Amino acid sequence: MKKNSTVLVPPEEMEKQRHFSELIYSKNLEFSSEIGRKPLAFVRTFGCQMNEHDSEKISGMLEEMGYGFCDGFEDADLIVLNTCCVRENAEDKVFGHIGGLKHLKKKRPWLVTAVCGCMTEQPHIVSEIKKSYRNVDLVFGTHNLHRLPELLYRVLDGGVRVYETSRTDNEVAEGVPVKRCGNVQAWVTVMYGCDNYCTYCIVPYVRGHERSRRPEDILAEVKKLCALGYSEITLLGQNVNSYGKDLEEGTDFAELLRLICENTPMRRIRFMTSHPKDISDRLIDVIAEFPAICNQLHLPVQSGSTRLLKRMNRHYTREQYLETVAKVRGRNPGITLTTDIIVGFPGETDEDFEDTLSLVEQVRYDQAYTFIYSRREGTPAAKYPDQVPEEIVKERFGRLLELQNRISREISEGYLGKTVEVLCEGFSKTNLSRYTGRTDGNKIVNFTSPENVTGRLVNVKIESIQTWSLEGSVTE
Ligand code: SF4
Repeated sequence: MKKNSTVLVPPEEMEKQRHFSELIYSKNLEFSSEIGRKPLAFVRTFGCQMNEHDSEKISGMLEEMGYGFCDGFEDADLIVLNTCCVRENAEDKVFGHIGGLKHLKKKRPWLVTAVCGCMTEQPHIVSEIKKSYRNVDLVFGTHNLHRLPELLYRVLDGGVRVYETSRTDNEVAEGVPVKRCGNVQAWVTVMYGCDNYCTYCIVPYVRGHERSRRPEDILAEVKKLCALGYSEITLLGQNVNSYGKDLEEGTDFAELLRLICENTPMRRIRFMTSHPKDISDRLIDVIAEFPAICNQLHLPVQSGSTRLLKRMNRHYTREQYLETVAKVRGRNPGITLTTDIIVGFPGETDEDFEDTLSLVEQVRYDQAYTFIYSRREGTPAAKYPDQVPEEIVKERFGRLLELQNRISREISEGYLGKTVEVLCEGFSKTNLSRYTGRTDGNKIVNFTSPENVTGRLVNVKIESIQTWSLEGSVTE
């Protein structure tokens, strides 16, 4: 018997949600005729790609309920704040926004405000909102996302405040509508939750146990995306390498990738995040075997010190991590490697930090996402007595950033004069006369082209570099 076997949210529950969605649609039609336009929603997202994708689902449900969308708080009739709690400053930012909504409610009394996401899975946060922010009408957690139609209906129909953060820790909801942000690249969740309990991380407490989607549901979604013209997907999960451990079928992540490659014409497939302790030889082989799987791997190391890795409950040593990197590179030459690193984890000594620097020097990551340790109430590390003084952490953080910037720049310089294949995602956000896209190895490339090549794979000659991106022009 597999642990914690995952079940689908029953079809009758999903049907019930569609019913509430229709009821809100009718209400919105009446509202539209009163105000002469569609009611507008604004969904603001904080945090990671999982949250970005959850917001796409929230928007998908709202669209079915008859909402249009606007780009800011001022024009909205419904505001949804989809929150993150991985870092303390992200939470502070959200509270700042919630406070700021009070005056909007005074100006537009019909405005409905909702707060959801990881923050609202923490009881002390919900209590604080209840007590101090009476301008918030609806609070729901990540486990109740698919129940948004019902919860919102209770607010709109009853004029009451609704708090729904109950959780069922073994369910997966299928069939939630999605309004995707782009039309070239799409996110596809393969699993939810995490069972790893790294001692600094709040995610397992707020996102719950690992729950995998069934392979047939993932395949159906990918096929649909291909039919809609999407060229690239990123498979999402807190630890995709645990995929399938809760499924009776026995499909693991390597097998899932193989199924997608063999049964769909998707041109590019990425995935994140991979826990180094769980990466299998089969996965490393599958990346090499199928050209559609991008030659790129995000492999968070967190620290170069075995002593700290143990304290972080990461279940690998520095040496094991380096062996994995050597294996990945041996089988997939030229693979782009990126990582996450925490600076200032409790008890980090100068020696531990030097171990991190030397590991970064040795691996030579294309890019590293570096974070200052953020103390999260409820995690074991928050109780560790040896928190590192702020000025030491800042100094170490600066040194790590400098080192990684130098390495990233040196790697980018290797692209100068070369021609790379780029999947064009559209116009560059910072310069509308240029296009932007990514290489197979996930390097961002900004480039000029005589014609609109959005959605196409094009060859771009690299003419200059920035630390995090390459610049060039189409050669065809
Ligand atoms: S693997 Fe560790 S860091 Fe990643 S989500 Fe799970 S507990 Fe957090």
